[in-house]
Amino acid sequence: MKKIYHEQLCQESLGEFFSPAALAVITAANTGQDAILRGFFAHPEFHFDESKFDLGWAYVESQRRIVREVLAGEGPAAEAWAAFGRLLHAVQDFYAHSNYTRLWAAHYTEDDLPPPAQFDGMNDQLIHNPDLRSGNVYYPLELLTFFDRTRDWATPRLPADSHANMNLDYPARGPLFWYAMEGARQRSAHELQTLLAVLNESQKSRFSGKV
Ligand SMILES: [Zn+2]
Repeated sequence: MKKIYHEQLCQESLGEFFSPAALAVITAANTGQDAILRGFFAHPEFHFDESKFDLGWAYVESQRRIVREVLAGEGPAAEAWAAFGRLLHAVQDFYAHSNYTRLWAAHYTEDDLPPPAQFDGMNDQLIHNPDLRSGNVYYPLELLTFFDRTRDWATPRLPADSHANMNLDYPARGPLFWYAMEGARQRSAHELQTLLAVLNESQKSRFSGKV
């Protein structure tokens, strides 16, 4: 997903629980996952790419564990916020990079597709569907799709299962983008609730950054 949508999702899904300072660290760690040197190359688990779903969910769990361990110990809360930001990036990309949204939409005709607010982003049968796929990143041609000037030339030259042809990263990718956004919003809120459920009151308030 493009940076502004990751930022918007963090603000809309978490803004009330976290202090502005905490939210800033979470958001920076989230969008930092797309930095070229940090995670764009050779880290499909950061973005649920290449249909490596087990790897992606294991990465998400590894970041949840960091949040729990930091808050259970004396470590700075900022380390928990950063880990939370990294896992949010992954789960938000899940809806933009996989065909989850298309599998859901396939239950409807174009005319009776419910509005995005009725999208079910938490459907276990779809999450574990044998037809679930996500885009492969075909270097070096795929790199040209990251730039406005070369995107239209490169995209049709890449296979149908490429990231370039599968992604729902921004509105021009089509109306399903807004369903991916809704799924990402639901999952982000769910990830926060999942962590809060296992934290005690003092860990929760440290996590919120409001103490
Ligand atoms: Zn990403």
